[in-house]
Amino acid sequence: MPPMPAPASLKNRALERLQTVFGYAEFRGEQGEIVEHVLNGGDALVLMPTGGGKSLCYQIPALLRPGVGIVVSPLIALMKDQVDALLELGVRAAFLNSTLSAQEARAVERDLESGNLDLLYVAPERLLTPRFLELLTYAPVSLFAIDEAHCVSQWGHDFRPEYTALSVLHQRFPGIPRLALTATADDLTRREIREKLGLESSRTFLSSFDRPNIHYAIQEKNTPKKQLLEFLRDFDGEAGIVYCLSRASVEEHAMWLSKEGFKALPYHAGLGIAEKNNNQERFLREDGVIVVATVAFGMGIDKPDVRFVAHLDLPSSLEAYYQETGRAGRDGLPSSTLLLYGTQDVLRRRQMIQGGGSPDAIKRVEIQKLEALLGYAQTSSCRRQVLLSYFGETSVPCGNCDTCDVPPENWNATKAAQMFLSNVKRTGERFGVGHLIGVLLGKDDLRAIGLRHHQLSTYGVGKEIPELEWRGIARQLITLGLLVPDGEGHGSLLLGPRAWPVLKGEEEVWLRKEQPKAKKEKLSPRERAGKRVAAGSLEIKNPQVFEVLRTLRLGLAKAQGVPPYVIFHDSVLRQMASELPGTLAALGRISGVGKVKLEHYGNKFLEVLQGFSSGEKEMVEPKPAPTRERANSHLLESFMGASSSAAVRNDGLRRGASNSSAPVRTKSEKSTGRISLELAQGGLSPAQIAAERGLGVDTIFNHLAEFVADGELTFEEATHHDPEDAQVLERAFKSLPVEARSRLKPLYDALEGAYSYGAIRCYLASRGF
Ligand code: ADP
Ligand code: ZN
Repeated sequence: MPPMPAPASLKNRALERLQTVFGYAEFRGEQGEIVEHVLNGGDALVLMPTGGGKSLCYQIPALLRPGVGIVVSPLIALMKDQVDALLELGVRAAFLNSTLSAQEARAVERDLESGNLDLLYVAPERLLTPRFLELLTYAPVSLFAIDEAHCVSQWGHDFRPEYTALSVLHQRFPGIPRLALTATADDLTRREIREKLGLESSRTFLSSFDRPNIHYAIQEKNTPKKQLLEFLRDFDGEAGIVYCLSRASVEEHAMWLSKEGFKALPYHAGLGIAEKNNNQERFLREDGVIVVATVAFGMGIDKPDVRFVAHLDLPSSLEAYYQETGRAGRDGLPSSTLLLYGTQDVLRRRQMIQGGGSPDAIKRVEIQKLEALLGYAQTSSCRRQVLLSYFGETSVPCGNCDTCDVPPENWNATKAAQMFLSNVKRTGERFGVGHLIGVLLGKDDLRAIGLRHHQLSTYGVGKEIPELEWRGIARQLITLGLLVPDGEGHGSLLLGPRAWPVLKGEEEVWLRKEQPKAKKEKLSPRERAGKRVAAGSLEIKNPQVFEVLRTLRLGLAKAQGVPPYVIFHDSVLRQMASELPGTLAALGRISGVGKVKLEHYGNKFLEVLQGFSSGEKEMVEPKPAPTRERANSHLLESFMGASSSAAVRNDGLRRGASNSSAPVRTKSEKSTGRISLELAQGGLSPAQIAAERGLGVDTIFNHLAEFVADGELTFEEATHHDPEDAQVLERAFKSLPVEARSRLKPLYDALEGAYSYGAIRCYLASRGF
């Protein structure tokens, strides 16, 4: 029976929650309809791309229906962040999983029983225990939300056996609405979800899978590291993911990126659990971390401000590629992706399928999936059109992919193809790409090796085409199936069935020009955003203000132990920076600023914003290309007020003098030391703070030492030294005669200059000197 239409008041109440709790003006896409459907007691299968806004579909009904909303999620490690984000919004949320102590779990259960929760996140194995199911019969439940519902699919790579047992919910709680949510676009998986979760008669809400804010680009892999660096140039200080196929490659590239000055961390299944968690945490909690990872990384990471995803190897399928690239730009802001693929990748993949032990029917499916992926990589049409058509959607050229940016030219490569193919034939279908190209180019060293290849008619016929271009041609011939790898995986190439009509001159070969001669100026994501008004992307106005707000956010997040985006999303900070609201009311009108967050953080952000809006507007206008640090420190100074710049030069204050515990300071009173403190609490090292503020490192150490003395900062937090360093200092300290212990120089000398005066000052401060 179709659910009754919702009375207007119910809709209004949903909208009211959206606005006051979440701070959003209106529902997006199908959210409104889904919420209404669930409020009326209906079941739903929600298919929305990553970043589409699935969570609100169950969070708002859970706030409005009596009882607690139970959210089933497979991602224990991320539950705490999800719950923290809700608590920040003033929603009564909790989670139950194996990371809680028995005591903590009991406290949550008590809250559940006494009706003190709006939302409870549980792992499926916990939900299915008789004890928990029993609990649910006493506590009224408003709805069940089954997140990442594709985990029920036995064929998917995220299969979780416990998910298949979730049909029990239908049997035990027949009257309670259930939502299954997933971003997996695959039709087979959808059918499986419906069947296994008993949702056959529920309504399906299928959103478009388009992600208009994501830019897609694909390049042949020639000099991968250089290509990656070039790509990363646009993302100074932004977070992103770099996918590699193997663990070894992950390790190598993470190390290399670190050496290049990026904050890059590895992630793969072979790392210890502690290291994996630590690296994931840093990705979520710090700004600008790049994770270099195998596909083991990413599911359920709901960090909204991932600005780029790069693939250094071919992904396993177009679905996988779409899911992995989809982790960029959940916040709707412009984001970029890059896929590099090389001949060896394609050959290896074909070889793996051909040589693998799968039945022929499966091999055929695998080959089809590979061809779809290669077809996408090689397309001359709009990438998005190809992607969406693979998922059954039609679209027009998007204007936001590399083929739309610079439409590739095709050329009649029939003659070159014939040269290459006949060369393969004449050399006996026994050689790899490198050797074959060597023959075409007439390389001298081939004379020596006794194969007599220098006597072939194809020797040297391809001299007009440079080696790199030949490689591109070979790759395209392989992708097109004109050449196939040998069955044993020796890396030699054989003629494919499609090669004969070409050799006989019955068919033409048209290939993509891989190195467009007139390369258009590459646009940065920001410039592209500026160009693309239609997608509604926000260009960063006043980037310097944005950076200052970001620093403030980082300090607040660090102090509360939550990821920065839990405080405010980048999109919120960008709006603040561009609109420079001057009152709490104006701040509250910004999308993403709900009532509770306004109460908690409104004044802090307003204080910073007022420094920019009151008569200092001219400073906010973009200056001709200031570097980020300089601009930032300049503006931080300006919001601190002129009086403090004098204090900045005033070295040597250590303890006691300031009334640093005064809770509220006006702009001009705000001590310069406090700003250093906030930056240090935000995780910046003294050198970084000095660069950020345009001050000397010694000055910063002086600031920080003061707070170490007051106990607001530990020695390690202030100096970024390890506890082991503290031990070294302690040993040296104890080796000194008592009367020398309070002075810097003796300790400095005892350590033979291994630690800076600044670090020593902080150490002494930690000991009460
Ligand atoms: P999903 O789970 O589908 O990947 P989320 O629920 O995490 O997506 O939402 C993606 C982002 O979009 C979040 O940052 C969320 O706050 C934001 N969002 C969701 N709904 C709205 C809306 N109606 N208006 C503005 N932003 C929204
Ligand atoms: Zn396009």
